[in-house]
Amino acid sequence: MASLPTQKPHAVCIPYPSQGHINPILQLAKYLHFRGFHITFVNTEFNQQRYLKSRGSANAIDGFQFETIPDGLPPSDSDSTQDVATLCASVRVNCLAPFIDLVTRLNDSPGVPNVSCIISDGAMSFTVKAAEQLNIPEVVFFTISACGYIGYAYYAELVERGLVPLKDESDLTNGYLDTPVDWIPGMEGIMRLKDFPSFMRTTDREATMLTVNIEHADLALRAKGLILNTFEDLEPRVLKTIRSTYPHEVFTIGPLHLLEHQMPESDSKSVGSSLWKEDASCLEWLNQWEPNSVIYVNFGSIAVMTAQQLTELAWGLSNSKHPFLWIIRPDVLSGDSAKVPKEFLEETKGRGMIASWCQQEKVLAHSSVGGFLTHSGWNSTLESISEGVPMICLPFFAEQQTNCRYVCTEWANGSEIDADVKKDEVERLVRELLDEEKGKEMRKKALDWKEKAQSAVKPGGSSYMNIERLINHVLSENS
Ligand code: UDP
Repeated sequence: MASLPTQKPHAVCIPYPSQGHINPILQLAKYLHFRGFHITFVNTEFNQQRYLKSRGSANAIDGFQFETIPDGLPPSDSDSTQDVATLCASVRVNCLAPFIDLVTRLNDSPGVPNVSCIISDGAMSFTVKAAEQLNIPEVVFFTISACGYIGYAYYAELVERGLVPLKDESDLTNGYLDTPVDWIPGMEGIMRLKDFPSFMRTTDREATMLTVNIEHADLALRAKGLILNTFEDLEPRVLKTIRSTYPHEVFTIGPLHLLEHQMPESDSKSVGSSLWKEDASCLEWLNQWEPNSVIYVNFGSIAVMTAQQLTELAWGLSNSKHPFLWIIRPDVLSGDSAKVPKEFLEETKGRGMIASWCQQEKVLAHSSVGGFLTHSGWNSTLESISEGVPMICLPFFAEQQTNCRYVCTEWANGSEIDADVKKDEVERLVRELLDEEKGKEMRKKALDWKEKAQSAVKPGGSSYMNIERLINHVLSENS
């Protein structure tokens, strides 16, 4: 184990302001706190307000402090997820100065150790400039899969090769996106244009999400290291490519949430991360069902669907005749509150539970959950892998497409459902997963991955060793 210097090391941890980024960065922050670091965790004012609302009070633990910076958007007391492109554009131009002020103030605070490192979300790449200006080492943490990271890292080359931007809107539907991409080492035979993170599906070279993601990849090269929440056995070929192109050390330390099991409850349960209030009754409800019989449906914290998708999903679930736990965020439909058909509720009475937010890790660990109908967000995918739950993937945006592709090919622990959701297809895929031979094979694969994921974080495992390396790396940058 790394030995700590006499003054506590102080890590400033800053996630991109959304749930799927806060969770893994907070998990790492809690682990570093457990290992003797002083932690400052930086939320946006908007998210800190939501966080306090969902928990009722701020957590106070010794040596773990929350601080805030404004996100640059007009004040709001909404509980809805902020629009990704608007938020990214604002963060990029508005957060650098307040962040520099904050770190400077921390360094002047009596009783607080000097800031020894910044652990920043790769999607908060302005922090690299702050770290350079303040002469503090920074490690960037991309809270996505290694395959997703590569997808973004090659955006610039997609542009150079003239593959992006698209010529016109018709490229979205004329088969152009099926073009195989076989020139990225480690991804041969897998990637097609449509498997890249979805922000490249644009006809505008200056589109915000294309531009910011190229910028994130560039700025990350100037940090002192790269953290990914994945594990070596899951993505070996892709990781080899990343290591051959990224100029500093790469630390694969996932699945991070499993590390909580190695900490005393005083640390693991000390600080929650949820921006919504969790409905604990979901877990009780699951107790009544046979092992592997329930389909769990959840599309994460950002995805927004159409009323038609919602209705088709509802009838597909109903027709599958399987019990289901369906988490419907109040803001899952754009511009409308999400309502499922009344007849559907009557039809599935006693067999379905609908809630607005749950403790997902616990739900996935429940023995009655046999499959996960997911949007393929990386945390959800990794949590499912960690519990051996096979998936039906309905990717919406960002690198969800890439994760889905890997689930359906390399990892073979799931299937894909078309974005133009049809109830018969939902029914067919649910039945396939829970009743048929093909589903059994996917579950077997999923259980193999579970074993590998759990081994990675155990003492001696690759992620466990990589966290030790990361701690040593961060400490040595200061000596
Ligand atoms: N989550 C949760 N309860 C829910 C829905 C999601 O705790 O009802 C958590 C989930 O466990 C995961 C995160 O929220 O850690 C969602 O992250 P992900 O990367 O899967 O998707 P995103 O929300 O970023 O699209």
